[in-house]
Amino acid sequence: MISGAERERLLARMGIAVYVPRGAPAPAPVSAPVDPPPAPWPGPPPVPPAAAPDPAFAPVSAPVPAPDARHPLEPGAPAAGPSSAPGATAGAPVRALAWPELEAAVAGCVACPLHRSRRRTVFGAGARDADWMVIGEGPGANEDRSGEPFVGRAGRLLGAMLFALGLSREEVFITNTVKCRPPGNRDPEPAETERCGPFLERQIELVEPRVILAVGRVAVQTILDTNAPLARLRGREHPYPRGGGRVPVVATYHPAYLLRTPIAKRSAWEDLCLARSIAGRSP
Ligand code: SF4
Repeated sequence: MISGAERERLLARMGIAVYVPRGAPAPAPVSAPVDPPPAPWPGPPPVPPAAAPDPAFAPVSAPVPAPDARHPLEPGAPAAGPSSAPGATAGAPVRALAWPELEAAVAGCVACPLHRSRRRTVFGAGARDADWMVIGEGPGANEDRSGEPFVGRAGRLLGAMLFALGLSREEVFITNTVKCRPPGNRDPEPAETERCGPFLERQIELVEPRVILAVGRVAVQTILDTNAPLARLRGREHPYPRGGGRVPVVATYHPAYLLRTPIAKRSAWEDLCLARSIAGRSP
């Protein structure tokens, strides 16, 4: 956990004013400067060594999955047919897979056209028994190279957002609605999110988070199964429609959007505080 003073300093660096009740002594001046462009939200304060290197620029050494690693995937249908993916369980439905088999199934998946242009699948990272899940829309170029979700500038901003809540990336499970990069960083298409949906659903089942933070319009609409605009879905709690509605979902802006639109950071911080209050309440 970070101290109150440390959090105030971090929020001030993010450009978020700290509320001070009338009559209360004025807070000490914050010495941290506002970030110069093009990094309006500061990167996370010192992080554990494992998180410090930016994998976005790491050389790619993992092989691209073999094109004949067929993995027919239908929601609720057998997950793995003939597949060369190590550990894949032929004939087992996705909902029955444990972590190793699920990860192998994703690595060998060719169930939608996104497999053709990917370099690596991006399964997800973080604690597999986390209280928090952060779900974005899909891997970008950096993620496609590294195999890790949320790297690069948007990833660093997400790290700063989590740190402001007293969380490290390692304490949160982070993934996307699709596990392969849409070409040209376009949004995933509905058919692709639907095709990939069983993987995400199984991840949510296995993690059993206390709260899901869905970031960006595509992720929010996919997870909540709605076409409502993000602006209408923010600021309140939603039940995750699958799994009996037991997992609460909070919608907010994608870090990449916040990099382009710093004025939205204040609203994003309110969403994060809502998610924190949900995660902290009694089960
Ligand atoms: S995006 Fe999902 S469904 Fe499509 S190929 Fe990748 S893992 Fe399979």
